[in-house]
Amino acid sequence: MSSFRLKTSAIVLQAQWVVPISASPIRDSAVLVLGDVIAAVGKAKEILRRAPLKAQRIEFPEGIIVSGFVNPHIHHENTHFAEVKKPQSFNLWLSQMVKLVKSQSFNDAYAAAKDGVVQSASFGVTSVGEFSRLGASFFALSELGLRGVVFKEFICLDDREIEDQISELENWLENAKPRNSLLRPAIGPHAAYTVTTNAFKRVLDLAKKGNLQICIHAAESLSERKLVEKRKGVWRFWLGRVLHDAPLGLSPIRYLDWLRALKPKTLLVHCVQVDDKDISILAERKVWVAHCPRSNANLKVGVMPLAKMLSAGVKVCLATDGMASVESLSPLDEIRFAIKLSKEHPKIYPSLSPSQWLKMVTFEAASALGIDKKVGSIEEGKQADLAVFNVGSKIKDPIEALVFEAKEAELTMVAGKFIHFKKK
Ligand SMILES: [Zn+2]
Repeated sequence: MSSFRLKTSAIVLQAQWVVPISASPIRDSAVLVLGDVIAAVGKAKEILRRAPLKAQRIEFPEGIIVSGFVNPHIHHENTHFAEVKKPQSFNLWLSQMVKLVKSQSFNDAYAAAKDGVVQSASFGVTSVGEFSRLGASFFALSELGLRGVVFKEFICLDDREIEDQISELENWLENAKPRNSLLRPAIGPHAAYTVTTNAFKRVLDLAKKGNLQICIHAAESLSERKLVEKRKGVWRFWLGRVLHDAPLGLSPIRYLDWLRALKPKTLLVHCVQVDDKDISILAERKVWVAHCPRSNANLKVGVMPLAKMLSAGVKVCLATDGMASVESLSPLDEIRFAIKLSKEHPKIYPSLSPSQWLKMVTFEAASALGIDKKVGSIEEGKQADLAVFNVGSKIKDPIEALVFEAKEAELTMVAGKFIHFKKK
């Protein structure tokens, strides 16, 4: 691995197929990487002719080169919470999580994030929408060299804590900014039920001032909906006061809209408990929704009405969520589960093509994070964020082969640098 690291100036990756996402797959093909940029993509013969003589050439006769996966919602700091029971009800899961999170130190979170980031890279993930509770995953991502947006989690259950919490967030944003050109700091107000109305308004002001993206867990469970809309359900004693200043009768989506939190730069996660009116608001406001089907199934919160959402024009991408609620950080595992769901719930969950699913973990997920001009497809001039999977010889349909067969990536590259090599 170290010998590769020394020579990243000109590399030709050659494979049985290249899947650029933005165009049809190309057989017997190659990608030329110069520095951190994709300099050319096309038939191997042509690329080799154009490549500098000294270019390093790596061949994958059974391989498929694909645009690196973008996982728009992940909590790498939760990687060591993998033992949390799944499936179980959302309410039991949440109370277990509250305990685990309280006892997690910064160093524990950092160690977990480091392990998680290595796992993500091994699954071909090159960019993430990281939801970071302690800021520890920012360092882990930065050290391994992943790209993405780091949403610093913001929780404020009591208005008396607003000033302290806001200044802590401002300090984090200030410190995170100059550290790493691949990572963009952003804000993650955790959910409607964990941020007081006044604190939410302050956070939204901060995001507006700094032109920052925001990410919110929204309309995940029925308990959330009961609490936000009616101040009813099991959470009302514990979390009811958070919504003290919020109007009654608004669903979580309508409440967030009332707060003016729904903008094109907003990424909502889950959106399972949504009605038709919620869906039309999501489409109208052009927010992105990160859909996490395995997490939703493991926490028994229901099946997201994906068919209705897509036909209403809601922008949906696919995410794994963290190891506290899923079995792996592989976007391909997420796709496989989604395909299984479409067979089990054909009326509410559409049967999309493998290529549509693949877009939801590449180009569309990159759009959700606002990095689609740089990554999300293999195109000349874009950043060299790539993954290679070996799936056997004589592949007829490389997209199907990827979606149904691929496991660990042979190599993963971000900005022309190798961040993962499969151990032989
Ligand atoms: Zn989450």
